[in-house]
Amino acid sequence: MSEFAQSVREINVDAMRASRIDTLMINVGLRCNMACSHCHQSSSPARTETMSLALVEQVAEIADRIRPALIDITGGAPELQPGLRPLITLLTEAHLPTQMRTNLTALLEPEAEGLIDFLAENHVRLLASMPGSSAGEASMRGEVFAACVSALERLQDAGYTRNPELRLDVAFNPAGVSLPQRDEIEARFRVELGNDLGVCYDELVAITNMPIGRMKETLRGSGELGTYRQALRDAFNPCTVEHLACRHSLEIAWDGTFSDCDFNLAAGLRVASGVPSHVSEFDLETLTTRPVRFAEHCFACTAQAGSG
Ligand code: SF4
Repeated sequence: MSEFAQSVREINVDAMRASRIDTLMINVGLRCNMACSHCHQSSSPARTETMSLALVEQVAEIADRIRPALIDITGGAPELQPGLRPLITLLTEAHLPTQMRTNLTALLEPEAEGLIDFLAENHVRLLASMPGSSAGEASMRGEVFAACVSALERLQDAGYTRNPELRLDVAFNPAGVSLPQRDEIEARFRVELGNDLGVCYDELVAITNMPIGRMKETLRGSGELGTYRQALRDAFNPCTVEHLACRHSLEIAWDGTFSDCDFNLAAGLRVASGVPSHVSEFDLETLTTRPVRFAEHCFACTAQAGSG
């Protein structure tokens, strides 16, 4: 049993299992127009994993059977996946509330032409990743700040943040080994994005970097992997255990396999043995109460106020 699983068991043995599926996360594929150093999925333009159109239909059927409070579409950059629009169309027809994660810059790619209006028409809420609150901060992670602001402005023009049915939240991962200081980040983004640039969003989500995938390799390359893992352990907050995302969600990957969360998927961990592992074996009761596969990286979900 991992050190993290032991910590959870000492706090509440029931927390080692899922208790419901409020959120169904769907990872439609790993191709991305960027290759960020903190990406836990190691996404890049070279990744070829993709959800087939046949599987899109199966996944939408399963979403309709689960009927969670939220469908959360992720990637890669979902914008670049051929199955994205068919999937959203099916979810909308089933009246399932849907969110898409976006790095913003992918919305400006030629393949995403017309997508902003499509997302607005289907009332898809967005969780948009920002590389910083200013060009100076973002320049450490690529020249993408101006493109992100441009995409945010186009989203606002389409009704996001103005129409209550078009929610737009912003996510931020701090650079390097620092853990997110939520109050400072919240205040800075409100001033630098909101007041200075006139960019609106509904809520800021500060995300703790996961020491897996490309983030892990980045930390290893700088000799900081051990320090970062220890910082996550030191920041363990037992109060977050009840609220771990894996306990009330399920993820379906591009190949139809189930994972407890997108981080476990990236780490190569599918659901525990004995639990249906593919959409072809779907069983709601068993999946809803499955044991969760905790691992070393899970300490990123329980650091400080919790993340994930
Ligand atoms: S990484 Fe996944 S499995 Fe681990 S605690 Fe976080 S949500 Fe749960």
